[in-house]
Amino acid sequence: MSETQIVWLRRDLRMADNPALYEAAKRGPVVAVYVLDDDRASTHAYGGASRWWLHHSLEALQNSFASRHAKIVLRRGDAVEHLLQIAEETGAKTIHANRHFEPWWRNAEKTLGEKIDLERYDDANFLTVMGSIKTGTGGQYKIYTPFSRAVRSQYPPRDELPEPETLSSPETYPESDDIADWKLLPSKPDWAAGMRDFWKVGEAAAHERLEWWETHVDDYDDKRNFPSVEKTSRLSPHLHFGEITPVQIWHHFKHKRSKGWDTYESELIWRDYAQNTVAQFPLYARDNYREDFDKIKWRDPETDEKAAKDLKKWQQGRTGYPIVDAGMRELWQTGWMHNRVRMITASFLIKHLLIDWRHGEQWFWDTLVDADYASNATNWQWTAGTGVDSNMFVRIMAPLSQSEKFDSAAYIRKYVPELAGLDEPYIHDPEEFGRLPKAYPPKMIAHKEARERALAAYKAMKDD
Ligand SMILES: Cc1cc2nc3c(=O)[nH]c(=O)nc-3n(C[C@H](O)[C@H](O)[C@H](O)COP(=O)(O)OP(=O)(O)OC[C@H]3O[C@@H](n4cnc5c(N)ncnc54)[C@H](O)[C@@H]3O)c2cc1C
Repeated sequence: MSETQIVWLRRDLRMADNPALYEAAKRGPVVAVYVLDDDRASTHAYGGASRWWLHHSLEALQNSFASRHAKIVLRRGDAVEHLLQIAEETGAKTIHANRHFEPWWRNAEKTLGEKIDLERYDDANFLTVMGSIKTGTGGQYKIYTPFSRAVRSQYPPRDELPEPETLSSPETYPESDDIADWKLLPSKPDWAAGMRDFWKVGEAAAHERLEWWETHVDDYDDKRNFPSVEKTSRLSPHLHFGEITPVQIWHHFKHKRSKGWDTYESELIWRDYAQNTVAQFPLYARDNYREDFDKIKWRDPETDEKAAKDLKKWQQGRTGYPIVDAGMRELWQTGWMHNRVRMITASFLIKHLLIDWRHGEQWFWDTLVDADYASNATNWQWTAGTGVDSNMFVRIMAPLSQSEKFDSAAYIRKYVPELAGLDEPYIHDPEEFGRLPKAYPPKMIAHKEARERALAAYKAMKDD
C-alpha cells in the first residue's frame, strides 16, 4: 500500500477545489486532521459565533467524508505537536496544507516545515496567489485600487479542482476527539437560536447559496448598500471557513458578465486585498499602521467607567441611534451584519464614542460568524483612518442621514421592535421628532457634540 498522507485542515472545510486534499488523495490513503489550537491564536482564538459555525461546518464535512468511507481526525491542543504525533503513529512522511496567513498559522507552518515534509498549496482560498501581485518595481501593493487593477489584468484565476476521484483510508485511523466534547455550541444560555434560523452551514449549503445568488447578482450594484433588502451574497462565512472558494465563484459567473457581477467581483478582490495587507503587516489587527494615531487620546473603557458603559451600550444596541442599534442587534441575533451598517456602527464607536477601533475589532471577532483576521482588521483600520489604505479620520459618518439615504426603515423595524410602530421619517430619529417610545433610549451623545469631540481629539493628536 502506498504511504499515508496527512491533510491539515484549517479554513478549508470542503471536498471540492481543495488543493491539499486533492493532491494528497492522489498519492495514498488520507488522514485528514483538524486541530483546535486556541492557545496559538491567543487573542484571535475563535469567538462564540465562529465556534458555533465551526461545529456545524466540521460536522458537515465529517458527513461528506463518511459518505466516502473516510474520517476526519479531531484533536485539541498544539497543532504542530498533534500533527507530528499523528505522522509518527501513521508512518506518514508528508503533511499537505493549504497555506494560511494569520500570524499564528504562519509560525506554525514554519515550525512544522522544519520538522517534516510540509507541502503547502499557495492558491487555495483566494483569487490570487498571495504575494504574486507585484507593482512595476517588484514591490507589494498597499493601496486597493491599483491592486485590484493588477489582479484583473492577471485573470483568469487558476482552474477549479473537482473532489478527489478516490479517497482511500488507512488501515486504522489515529484516535480522534468527539466534536461534542469540544463544547463549541452554547448551552446555558443557548443564544444561537437566531443563527440557526438565519444560516445553513457547510459546503453543500454554500453551493446552494451560490445558486440563489446567481438569481440576484445583477441587482448588486444598485442594491448592495440597502440593508432592508437581501441583495448581498451572504457567502462571507462560507468563504471564511473555506466551504467554497472565490475561484469556484469566479468560474460559476465567468459567462455572466453584468455591472452587478463586476461590482461583486471588486468585493471579492477586497478580500484578497485584505489578506495581502495582512501578509505584509502580520500584526495589523493589533497595531495602527499610521503610528501618529498611537498618540490620540481615546476614551479608554479599561480605565474610564463612563467609556466602559458606552462601549456596553454600543455592544447591546442601546445607543439611541436606530440604525446603529439595528445593526448591533442584527449582529447579536444572526452573527452577521450588513456591510453598510458595519461601516456606520464602526464609525460610531470610533468617532462618536471616541473609543479605540481595537475594542470594536474584538467585539466583531467574538460575534461575527464570518470573523476573519484580515478582513476584520483591514476594515476597522480603514474606518478608523489608521490603515494603509483608509478613509480619513475627519470624515465622520452621520448615522441619521445614512439611515435615510439607504432606506433603512424596514431594517430598523425588524431589529428594533420598540420602534416598529414608527413611520418615516420619525423612525430614523424618533427623539428629534418628539416620538421617542418609552422603551427606547435617547441618544447617548448628540451628533454635533460627538463630531466636535472627535475632531478636537484628532487636532490634539496632530498638534502633539
Ligand atoms: C468594520 C468592518 C468589519 C468587517 N469585518 C469582516 C470580517 O471579519 N469578515 C469578513 O468576511 N468581512 C468583514 N467585513 C467586510 C464586509 O462587511 C463583509 O465581507 C460583508 O458584509 C459580508 O457579507 P456578504 O457575504 O453578503 O458580502 P457581499 O457584499 O456579497 O460581498 C462578497 C464577498 O466579498 C468579500 N467582501 C465584501 N466586502 C468586503 C470588504 N469590505 N473587505 C473584505 N472582503 C469583503 C466577502 O468575502 C464577501 O462575502 C467588515 C467590514 C467592516 C466595515
